[in-house]
Amino acid sequence: MGIIKNILKRVLKESIIVEKQKISETAYKIRVKSEDIKNAEFVAGYFLRVGIGLTEESLTMQDFVRSYSVWEIDQTNGTLDLAIATHSNGSGAKWIEQRKVGDKVYFTWKKGNFIVDKSADSYLMVGDLSALSHLYMIRRNLPKDRQIESILYSQHKNEVYADIDGTTPFEFYELPQNPTEEIINKIKEIIPKLKGKTIVYVGGDSRVCVALNQFFRRELNWDTKLIKTKPFWNPDKKGLE
Ligand SMILES: Cc1cc2nc3c(=O)[nH]c(=O)nc-3n(C[C@H](O)[C@H](O)[C@H](O)COP(=O)(O)OP(=O)(O)OC[C@H]3O[C@@H](n4cnc5c(N)ncnc54)[C@H](O)[C@@H]3O)c2cc1C
Repeated sequence: MGIIKNILKRVLKESIIVEKQKISETAYKIRVKSEDIKNAEFVAGYFLRVGIGLTEESLTMQDFVRSYSVWEIDQTNGTLDLAIATHSNGSGAKWIEQRKVGDKVYFTWKKGNFIVDKSADSYLMVGDLSALSHLYMIRRNLPKDRQIESILYSQHKNEVYADIDGTTPFEFYELPQNPTEEIINKIKEIIPKLKGKTIVYVGGDSRVCVALNQFFRRELNWDTKLIKTKPFWNPDKKGLE
């Protein structure tokens, strides 16, 4: 494991935590700084694969890497922000609780398809706390004239945090885990209000992603290009991606 760690440290990008803040009952923000961030080709919706096992000695391979979305990026200063939820109580949650300013964070960039798409007139954003920073980032990067409706949920409202600029542009609901039925009922209320071409983003609990994907495709007959889903976690698995 020692040799692998040394190789990985050379392959992955290195950054330093320059700020850490508790932003809600169950979430932390960290700002990391690295020369690599200045020159990265970046699109809103990109995320990082963080080698948490490189700074947490006790972790096994299964817990070695966790994915975190870029919440905000400042390429002039070479910094980016992550928002990490601790609901899971897993290795990633423990890793963020223990991190402090000055610690190193090793990462690689991941692009994927769950990124900003400016081609629609209106948007519907659905997700839980794990996907909140990702959806905030996408929203901030859409043209200002677009209609944006949202269903963000968590079990308790004090778990939710405001966006990086202090605004709270999303509709928040206190809902239990996997609240597919409640979400579909709310979507049915929102659909008639959506104007023109609509894209839906669904991120977070894999069960909700699957159920909503089916709902939009089978019940509403939406074109698959308009449905963007990204499972961030799965109740039967550790880490995803
Ligand atoms: C593309 C992508 C981007 C992501 N971006 C972010 C991000 O910006 N912020 C963020 O906080 N997470 C994000 N995640 C999720 C993150 O990678 C971890 O999966 C999550 O932090 C849980 O890791 P863990 O090691 O703490 O728990 P694990 O060891 O992975 O899981 C322990 C247990 O907790 C459950 N669990 C995991 N997540 C949750 C949850 N949210 N609520 C309830 N139970 C849960 C698991 O099913 C498992 O049973 C992202 C995931 C992906 C795939």
